[in-house]
Amino acid sequence: MSKIPLVDLQAQYQAHKQEFDAAIAGCLARASFVGGPDHEAFAGEFAEWCGGGHVALVGNGTDALTLALKEILGPSDGVGEVITASHTFIATGGAISAAGYRPVFVEVDAETCLMDPDAVEAAIRPNTRAILPVHLYGEMAEMDKVMAIARHHGLKVIEDAAQAHGAKWQGKGPGHWGDAACFSFYPGKNLGAWGDGGAVFTRDADLAGRISRHADHGREDKYLHQVEGVNSRLDGIQAAVLRVKLRHLDAWNEARRQVAAWYDELLEGKEAVERVKTREDAVHVRHLYVIQIERRDEVLKALQDQGIGAGIHYPVPLHEQPVFSHLGYGSDDLPITSAAARRILSLPLFPEMSQAQVERVAETLLAAVSS
Ligand SMILES: *Cc1c(COP(=O)(O)O)cnc(C)c1O
Repeated sequence: MSKIPLVDLQAQYQAHKQEFDAAIAGCLARASFVGGPDHEAFAGEFAEWCGGGHVALVGNGTDALTLALKEILGPSDGVGEVITASHTFIATGGAISAAGYRPVFVEVDAETCLMDPDAVEAAIRPNTRAILPVHLYGEMAEMDKVMAIARHHGLKVIEDAAQAHGAKWQGKGPGHWGDAACFSFYPGKNLGAWGDGGAVFTRDADLAGRISRHADHGREDKYLHQVEGVNSRLDGIQAAVLRVKLRHLDAWNEARRQVAAWYDELLEGKEAVERVKTREDAVHVRHLYVIQIERRDEVLKALQDQGIGAGIHYPVPLHEQPVFSHLGYGSDDLPITSAAARRILSLPLFPEMSQAQVERVAETLLAAVSS
């Protein structure tokens, strides 16, 4: 029985081995490990790919969020709050805390699993400073509504685009709505390095410069520091790998949509399998293909027993995380989010996935949900 992983990074390396090997060999030959020509070139190429703007490259997606929050909101005043969805990866909330702000968690829409703008509006208080929408699974939040709320209340908007490289809402991508969009290049993301990496994309050149400096010891000159900083730099080798991958990203996102379309066809009309809804106004980049089912844990086990690498993104919502217990949420404060966390299941999806593999996953899934 051959295995079908959740993501197949080996297939991607093998398919473009020569390009990757040459890019990495170039870095080794030049000994350009921090900064260097690939770093500079990738920042420009990624900004261009995001639709024109400015990019600050950083060490990972979490730092992209943390440094963007710090530079956009300024130093913590001890009471400022940032509203985000509870249904997300831990880093979204962690970055808000790390920047010195208090995370305020709100509900998602039951069908799309994306941040509910009405819930955001209801959570605004005098201490609210920013909204942090999460473009989960490869589809953007309803940014027209989020921006209207932000403008009305004078709030900043920082987008978590870690799962949304290339996504669009009403024709515009991450960072073309809010003050900045934060990307992760963790290996399994749509654009992933061979290690950690991250970026902030913004239309504001000054902001991008401030974040870049913040990520490089607050350095303006080699040994002269006007502001405090941290070390959160993207390695030269990772930049070289990302330059190779960026050239294939549009094709890979298209291949992901094809895989999703195969799943859609096979799961259409199957009552026991509720697909997370996607909307007309969105260009989806299918970071994950997520369904909602009953008896989720049993079905997950049945898939795993058949060598199918399904996963859960994410099983424990942030308002229920022990690390955030000091925020005082009860486990039934966000019932839509908690219900979704019990029912969601991510099926294998990667650009190299074959139609036969999709068929095997769907067959195994349908057998498991009806047994
Ligand atoms: C991956 C991810 C992050 C964090 O990115 P890292 O590069 O792992 O630090 C943040 N938010 C979301 C939604 C993510 O999926």
